[in-house]
Amino acid sequence: MRDDSPSSVYLRCRCVALLDVLLVRLRRLLAAASVSILNANRPPLHVVNTQAPKLKSELRNPDSLTRIIGLKVDVDTCEGMKRGVPRLAALFRKHGVLASFFVPMGKDHTGWTVKRVFTKRGFLSKAGRVGVINTYGIKTLLYGLLLPGPNIALKNAKLVRTLNEEGYEVGIHGLDHVYWHDHIKTLNREETRKILAEAASVYREVMGRDPLSFAAPGWMINEHALAWFEEKGFTYTSDVRGTSIFMPRLGGVTFKVPQIPTTLPTLDEAVGLKGSDQESLTRFFVDSLTDGINILTVHAELEGKNWIGLLESFILETLARGFRYQRLTDIATLVQASGPLPAHEIGFGFVEGRAGEVALEK
Ligand SMILES: [Zn+2]
Repeated sequence: MRDDSPSSVYLRCRCVALLDVLLVRLRRLLAAASVSILNANRPPLHVVNTQAPKLKSELRNPDSLTRIIGLKVDVDTCEGMKRGVPRLAALFRKHGVLASFFVPMGKDHTGWTVKRVFTKRGFLSKAGRVGVINTYGIKTLLYGLLLPGPNIALKNAKLVRTLNEEGYEVGIHGLDHVYWHDHIKTLNREETRKILAEAASVYREVMGRDPLSFAAPGWMINEHALAWFEEKGFTYTSDVRGTSIFMPRLGGVTFKVPQIPTTLPTLDEAVGLKGSDQESLTRFFVDSLTDGINILTVHAELEGKNWIGLLESFILETLARGFRYQRLTDIATLVQASGPLPAHEIGFGFVEGRAGEVALEK
């Protein structure tokens, strides 16, 4: 018989309330577990786990060198690092594509570029087409002039390490981007090695290991830097504009570290000349691709901010056309496994839409 005495009713109510609390807690636990399972399946972690076997199977496949895009992200400023890089990483994660990021290891002295008005051919017209204040912001343009330049890698060390943990490649983009761009061509051996040694030391401090890849700021390079990369056992470097991967020859010496040139124009070279809206520029970049290996340099300050829609539309269009995205370090491995690379001379010249000269594959 059911006991309806006050003490028994009270006891039943307590039991029901306790059961309710337990059910709520169980539901919360299950929800938390499913979130952590979802997080465990996020693309970046997946990328880390699958990269090696995928590369191994591609090394056995003779078609593995066709329809490849190497996305090379150049970070030029602290602003680009802080605001552009996280948005780019989120975009790549969303579409499951891999990329290589190159970060300056020294201070942001973007303000020093003001003097390029007098020293670089076409600087003003390029600056006008790109929209300098809109792209960099006033604060960045004062670094090195009225404001002290922040250290790009050290100030964003956690973000740099996160990129690496998520499976992206992180290489060096010089020490002081502006100084390298404007002076490296004429620096001597000691001056060049001092800059590179300091950049490598900051990289070690941030990443806890030696650097293995480098991309020259402004596509400017000298033979002392190439010798230093060889001495330090770099996997490859990406310092020039060109069409194919090769062993670089400069100053009468052929170096043993492969050179992966940027093969496509950059957005700042194309905007206003090849198109001015997302649709026409997407078409221009997709039409510029070859069926071999394509290296596209994007900038954290441009494609990572105002032009992120353009990059997403390019990624969607190229994935639909069967292109695959590889980190530059994986491209270097794939290419070297396919046979010896030819030696090509590095020269200096001009590319359409860019102010000043750049190093070119001859
Ligand atoms: Zn750069």
